[in-house]
Amino acid sequence: MQQRYDMILRGGEVIDPSQGIRGKRDLAVNRGKVAAIAEALPADASGFNLDVSGKLVVPGLVDIHTHFYHKVMSLGADPDTSFLPVGVTTAVDAGSSGWRTWGGLRDFVIAPSRMRLLAFVNLSGIGLMPPELTDMAQIQPQDTADCIAADRDLLVGIKLRITSPGGTGETNAIPALQKARETADMAQCKIMTHVGRSPIPLARVVEHLKPGDIVTHTFHGFANTILDERGRVRREMVQARERGVLFDVGHANVWFDAPIARAAIEQGFLPNTLSTDYTSQEGARGRSRYMLTLLEVMSTFLALGMPLDRVISAVTDRAATAIGRAGQFGSLKVGMPADVAVLELQDRPATYTDNNGKAVQARQTFHHVMTLRDGAKVA
Ligand SMILES: [Zn+2]
Repeated sequence: MQQRYDMILRGGEVIDPSQGIRGKRDLAVNRGKVAAIAEALPADASGFNLDVSGKLVVPGLVDIHTHFYHKVMSLGADPDTSFLPVGVTTAVDAGSSGWRTWGGLRDFVIAPSRMRLLAFVNLSGIGLMPPELTDMAQIQPQDTADCIAADRDLLVGIKLRITSPGGTGETNAIPALQKARETADMAQCKIMTHVGRSPIPLARVVEHLKPGDIVTHTFHGFANTILDERGRVRREMVQARERGVLFDVGHANVWFDAPIARAAIEQGFLPNTLSTDYTSQEGARGRSRYMLTLLEVMSTFLALGMPLDRVISAVTDRAATAIGRAGQFGSLKVGMPADVAVLELQDRPATYTDNNGKAVQARQTFHHVMTLRDGAKVA
């Protein structure tokens, strides 16, 4: 008997870096899973066919740096209404909660969401409450490790902010990194460290990181950037990358400097992952001119010369890998959850102005068409 599918997306340009697929394909969904992917599926294989020719069909997007502890923190964005409408089906909260406040994020925000939501727990017990780590008493390695061990399915690692003012400040930058290392080793998890407006050289930061740990706000334009005095990516950053430290964008506009990103990319230093550092509009006020969606961040990096496949990979399979979830999502392999983003890459220009008023001119931009989550249309 002919296999029947709940839905077939027909004739789209499928880009799935996890399988090395780029080309015109039909994608079948059944019972919430990817059921088949082929150049042409039989015309009668499903009663529900959608013609998506001319559109991009990619795995549901993964944004590894966001803030969604809404209603508790003013900077928290409502995840379902902020992310699903731009094709993001998996978002990771980057340290809004600490071990003392994690239970609320888990039960009041993550549990009722239509999305797949994960989190880094802050090294600070109360979470991201500036200036959280200027008080070392906020750091309780054992409690933090216990918190992670109890919810390992949802918690992917520890977040800390090496920043001044706020975060660690200068005095506590190294002591907090040492505590983060101790805690992550105890919990067997990743560290994601914020380096925007770092009070110490980035070489001093990355020496505490192991392979798989993540530097976020890679292209920030304050003191202690990734470039040296001659405009070259610092040797210590290249060495960190070579030994497996990952570099994330964490855009938020305030943490993005267009000339620095352009120089790094020209030198072949591409970010592993693209992410937004998305917050509520209220959270964004006073710290950036405007906040970009993940599609706008993708359009920015495409314009900066990052190849299309690599842009998609940075928000799908590489993003899943970066948070230790390779093979669980961020891919359209048969049997995977049918989280799918249907997008259009249009010849519609846009200008993205960074925190210092420098612009990235994009000739082509990504636009949302449809989002599937577990095979259901959610946006
Ligand atoms: Zn953030």
